[in-house]
Amino acid sequence: MDDRRRDVPRTDTVLAEPVVAEAVDRLGRPAVKAVVAGVLESCRAGEVAPDGVVAEVVDRLPPSSTSLRAVVNATGVVVHTNLGRAPLSRAAVDALVLAAGATDVELDLATGRRGARGRGALAALRAAVPDAEDAHVVNNGAAAVALAARALAADREVVVARGELVEIGDGFRIPELVESLGVRLREVGTTNRVRLEDYAAAVGERTAFVLKVHPSNFRVEGFTSSVGVAELATLGLPVVADLGSGLLRPHPRLPQEPDATSALRAGASLVTASGDKLLGGPQCGLLLGRADVVHALRRHPMARAVRVDKLTLAALEATLTGPIPPVAEALSRSTADVEARARRLAAAIGGDATVESTEGRVGGGGAPGVPLPSAAVSLPADLAAPLRLGEPPVVGRVRGGRLLLDLLTVPEGADDVLLEAVRRVRSGGVG
Ligand SMILES: *Cc1c(COP(=O)(O)O)cnc(C)c1O
Repeated sequence: MDDRRRDVPRTDTVLAEPVVAEAVDRLGRPAVKAVVAGVLESCRAGEVAPDGVVAEVVDRLPPSSTSLRAVVNATGVVVHTNLGRAPLSRAAVDALVLAAGATDVELDLATGRRGARGRGALAALRAAVPDAEDAHVVNNGAAAVALAARALAADREVVVARGELVEIGDGFRIPELVESLGVRLREVGTTNRVRLEDYAAAVGERTAFVLKVHPSNFRVEGFTSSVGVAELATLGLPVVADLGSGLLRPHPRLPQEPDATSALRAGASLVTASGDKLLGGPQCGLLLGRADVVHALRRHPMARAVRVDKLTLAALEATLTGPIPPVAEALSRSTADVEARARRLAAAIGGDATVESTEGRVGGGGAPGVPLPSAAVSLPADLAAPLRLGEPPVVGRVRGGRLLLDLLTVPEGADDVLLEAVRRVRSGGVG
């Protein structure tokens, strides 16, 4: 025992090792010191040899200073809420890194005076949606709805269809959000049906606007009717359309999904949407519409409380002007391509790996019920947990006793990463 104690290296000696010193630069001294202390503890207990301490420290170091892990999304759900919704494009990631330092987000370098915050991102938005006279960006879709409600309808009424009183997730409901801002909701119609006459009977002097909410995460089928933006616009009141999913133009694969351009052309005064759903950008809320309306929102005191940060502005602009983001890429993937990749991967994995046809989903509040034909590598279900705990973690879905790794949501370049991850857990290694 005493001999072993004497051989245990000192903390400072371990910290001075070049690989460990490099980790201190990257992860910070306290984090690395805690790992070193843990390994020395194991060394004292005889579980780690004194000459194996440094290697064990390197092994136990966290990959980065965030506890968040980069995950391979093999769920087949393109915009997966629990996996952080839209993965960013390479261009958006580069923009984030650039904007992380000091940046001219609110400075005009030509004059040295204050510049309009986020002008690049807003110009890109206006260029992407020429039907919008002006645009504004806030923290998320819910903040966009909230700002519109507060700035345009405080102490007044908003008319909305009962079938559009949406709960967006985690217990949060659009109608409760709107009411929490001192806006009275006038509900019209029934769960399944509403007509223009219902709206017409409800609007009055106290009505600030008619709200059209896209039922983005459920579908009512059967005996149904709703009223579109074009018809609502005939009521002579502003129409605010909460689109949710953030399509800027119609998408050929999602014909039922509303988009900003069409809603504005149909006569909406304002549309609100999320930036990190089908648009494929960073979390933010988009407000697009009539110049006077957007101006009123931008100047409202609450706008400051939902202001978006420089990182988001940078990533949003790059999403709009750069190469197509991963969400759009996933939607454009042909079923034949995905099947070919699944066959190749299953063959490379070997053993009991097979290929299964699957149906992916848009997910995350978009195109509910619309199947996206896809293919998956099918493996025994007991591989789900070890794959999830590997590095990188791989998240698939379990169906009928099999683990399905759906390739619709896996970038093509990540097939090898997936293959390596599966090989590791099959050979009994832990990630
Ligand atoms: C997703 C969604 C929201 C909320 O947007 P967040 O970006 O999650 O805040 C609001 N309305 C609709 C219709 C949605 O689908």
